[in-house]
Order: sequence, then C-alpha cells, then structure tokens
Amino acid sequence: MRDGDGAFDALVLGAGPAGASAALRLQQLGHRVLLVERSAAWPRAQVGEALTPGVLNIVALLDANDALAAVPHVAHAGSRVLWRSRVPEQLSHAGSAIVDRASFDAALLTLAGRRGIELERPARLLNVAGTAGDWRVSLLCGAARSRAVRARFILDASGRCAAPGIACAPRLAAMWGEVDQSALAALAGTTQVEALQHGWLWAGCLPGRRYRLMLVCDPQAARQAGPAGPEARLRAACAASRLLRAAAGLPLLGAVQMCSATPYLAPDSWQDGRLKLGDAAFALDPVSSSGVEKAMRFSLQAAVALHTVLGNHSQASQALARHFFEGRLVEACARHAHWTEAYYGQAWCADQPFWQARAHCQAGGDGAGRPALLAALSTQRARLAGYQPPPLKPLAALDPALPLRLDRGAALVDLPCVVDDRVCLHTALDHPHLERPLAFLENEALFPHLARLAQPLPLAQLLAMLAAGMPGHKAQRIAAWLWQRGLLESVA
Ligand SMILES: Cc1cc2nc3c(=O)[nH]c(=O)nc-3n(C[C@H](O)[C@H](O)[C@H](O)COP(=O)(O)OP(=O)(O)OC[C@H]3O[C@@H](n4cnc5c(N)ncnc54)[C@H](O)[C@@H]3O)c2cc1C
Repeated sequence: MRDGDGAFDALVLGAGPAGASAALRLQQLGHRVLLVERSAAWPRAQVGEALTPGVLNIVALLDANDALAAVPHVAHAGSRVLWRSRVPEQLSHAGSAIVDRASFDAALLTLAGRRGIELERPARLLNVAGTAGDWRVSLLCGAARSRAVRARFILDASGRCAAPGIACAPRLAAMWGEVDQSALAALAGTTQVEALQHGWLWAGCLPGRRYRLMLVCDPQAARQAGPAGPEARLRAACAASRLLRAAAGLPLLGAVQMCSATPYLAPDSWQDGRLKLGDAAFALDPVSSSGVEKAMRFSLQAAVALHTVLGNHSQASQALARHFFEGRLVEACARHAHWTEAYYGQAWCADQPFWQARAHCQAGGDGAGRPALLAALSTQRARLAGYQPPPLKPLAALDPALPLRLDRGAALVDLPCVVDDRVCLHTALDHPHLERPLAFLENEALFPHLARLAQPLPLAQLLAMLAAGMPGHKAQRIAAWLWQRGLLESVA
C-alpha cells in the first residue's frame, strides 16, 4: 500500500523477537511496516534467555549480526542434567548462549528503527474498524496522543495470550528468582536441569553474574500441596533436589516471579487480514528452551506468506498462503509436542502423575472454531509418533545395470513451499519412510525430474536427467540418498 501518509502494509503489535523479526523481514521484502509496542519501560525484562543455535541462522538472514554483537551474553558453559537417572549427565551445548533478553529485544528494535521501520512506543491499539485489506486503526501513543493509521494487515505478536484455544499439553506454571552467582561458585557457571517428582528445575547463569533458579510444575498440584507462595515452592523444590540444594536458602536478588508456561496453539492465528505470530500463535513447553528460535522462525515464514498475498490479491494466492502458514504452525506444534512427550517419558520419575500426564497427552481445549486445524495437529502427531527411520540400504547393493523406479509406497503430493520468497505449490514425494513430504533435497527441486520414475529408468539416465539441472556430484548424492532410504526400487 503506498497511497499516502499513514498507510502501512502491516501493523505489527508487539516488539518482542516475533514482532521485530516479522517487521525486519517484511521490510527486507519491500513492505512498509509500523511496529507498535505497549511497554513504556524499554528495554523491558523478559523471560526466555537461553537461545538455541538455530537463532544464529535467523539473525544472519535478517542481517542483524552486527546489531546484536554488543548484546550481553554468556556462552553456554554446558549443563549438568539429572533427568534419565539419579546420576547427573554432563552435556555440552555448542552454539547456544544465554543472553540478556531485554538487551536482545532492544537491539532488534533499534535495528528496525535504523532500517526505517516506524515505531510507536509506548502505544496501544484503541480501535480497529474497516475491513481486511484496509483496516482503520486508532492508536493511543504515549499518555495522550492519538494517531489514526490504515493498514492492510494486522500482525498480533503481543506474546502469550490468556485464552489460548487449543492446549497442547496439561497446564504448567513457572516460577523463578535470581541469586548472586558468587554464592554458587561451586557450580562454575554451568546450567543445572533436574527432574523432580512433581516438576523440574532449571538453573543457569545470566549476564551480570546473576544465577536464575526456575521451577516448572503443575499449578493446581502446587496449590494443593500447601498454601505457600511461589518463593516457598521454589525454595522447597531446590531443597528437595540433588543439584540445587545449596541454593535453597540463599537470599534472592528480587521477588520471585511466576507465569503460565502451558504449551498451546491459537486456532484463529490466520483470520482474514489478521495474523498471530510468536507466542500469540503458539507457545512451547519451556523445557526445550527454544521458544525464541521458533517464534522468530515462524515470523519469517509468516512474512513470506504475507509477501505472497501482498503481491497477488487473488483468492487462490490467499488460500495458498494460508495453507502454508497454518501448515508451518501445526508442524511446529506437532514436532515440539512429539519431542516433549518423549523427553518427559525419559525422566527417572516418569511413573509419577506429573510426568505420566505429559508423556502421554492429546491436544484439547477450544479448537471448536477450527476443527480442521485440531485434526491436522492430531494427524501430524500420529505420523511423527509412528515414524521409524528406515534402515539404510548399503550402496553396494545398488545394481547399476537394473532400471530404477519410484517405490510402490511412494505418492506424489502438492506441497506449499517457499521459492524466491513467495509461497507456491510444488510437487513433493511422500512415503512412509519419510518424516514429511519432500520437495527439495540439497536445495534442488526433485520434481519434475522424479515424476519420470513412475516408469523404470536406467540409473545412468536418471543421473543424466538430474545432472541437467545441478552439478553431477549432487545428482549422484541425491540418487543415492533416495535409493538408500527405499524411495527408489530396482526393477529386475
Ligand atoms: C518460564 C518460561 C521460560 C522460557 N525460557 C525460554 C528459554 O530459555 N529460551 C527460549 O528460547 N524461550 C524461552 N521461553 C519462551 C520465550 O520466552 C517466548 O517464546 C518468546 O519470548 C516469544 O517471543 P514473542 O515475541 O512472541 O513474545 P514476547 O517476547 O512476549 O513479546 C511480546 C511483546 O509484545 C508486547 N505487547 C503485549 N501486548 C501488546 C499490545 N496489546 N500492543 C502492543 N504490544 C504489546 C510486549 O510488551 C512484548 O514486548 C520461555 C517461556 C517461559 C514461559
């Protein structure tokens, strides 16, 4: 939209990692964005400081390495994890870091400003009128300034929502406080993770010589256990632990904080002209410490979906973008739920009710408005639960004299994929040996080439066909990859 002052392609609500990433990516793709952040205090504190290595790729794609270089962080010094047994394991976390989240979020926002993205902070949305594609939005900026803007899309990246819709697991609450790191010098700055009978503890070094102690448990069970408040529960959990017993009586640097940590999916994440991103769309169990990465990644995917719609207003383009957006949303939740269930099931105390409920759970709650989304989530989870990677066939068993064709279990499906920053439908190969349908391998499109393999084709011809569009060594690797996994069969 370029029709005068106040007209934006996207108005993004919330300048956390999800909102800032969406704004930066949309701006890279040539769109005009207004970021609206509610918080008057800035930088503002936020939980979620342990960043997984995947954040690095996202930061690189946003060309934000320099902007984030000065963010205070501590390299992940490894973890002592008491989970599978009562004997702690030592794990390393190459590429992970613990950052000061306030500074991380602030650096992304400063970068957005430098790139020309408009910001209103503190500001909040007073009213939305108009229709999808031409929203008329009233904002209250600061204490008293009102501003009216027009926007084609409204992206809600305002964080965890109070009424999440589909709960992906039983309820969880987190409570945390901080102590001076020097009081726990014996831990040498390492992260501690411990499964307890009724929850789990995470503790780690934050920048600024603070040491965070966090308990994650069932909020109801914690309430029933006694009238004690969060601080008493946190201290009691440390006292009952093996790794953090020494922390139980230490003075805290401030009040214990508490929030919901229940994983969920908001079924209305795609509505006509309004999208949800990051924690507003889906929240993960903090046990994976990957919420920030997943929130940022989903924002990049949502930006591409939006770019597709903004470049082509047809209904077909809308439907495709939505299909892609919801597919990525469901996949993120399903994969995470699958991983989390398995992880909870491995705990030494997995026979306890807290662990049983989380090792075997179904999504529930209010998915009534979008039964298809709930069904897609169940289907994906069932597929992941049933998936067994095939044993690899030795390449020596491939007889080059025999023609090859697609295995009889293979099916060709249409898959929404990103090509040149837009969503398009691509033919993909599906097969029980694959975790998900496959359209590209080593960044090369498999189709239309593989469609020829409905009929047997000599290996040399297959390689020549693939090599017409890619380097020969890649063609060989791809053919071998497919054959070893039983996606191609030799025809005697
Ligand atoms: C206990 C706990 C521990 C966690 N630990 C980790 C971890 O170690 N590693 C990790 O990667 N993830 C962790 N997470 C998850 C992580 O915190 C979130 O996934 C991440 O912050 C999501 O980013 P976001 O941008 O969607 O939301 P947020 O970071 O919540 O940002 C939302 C922004 O929107 C603003 N806002 C809210 N309402 C409005 C409004 N109406 N208008 C305008 N602005 C608004 C807020 O002020 C805020 O700045 C943890 C989560 C919990 C609950």
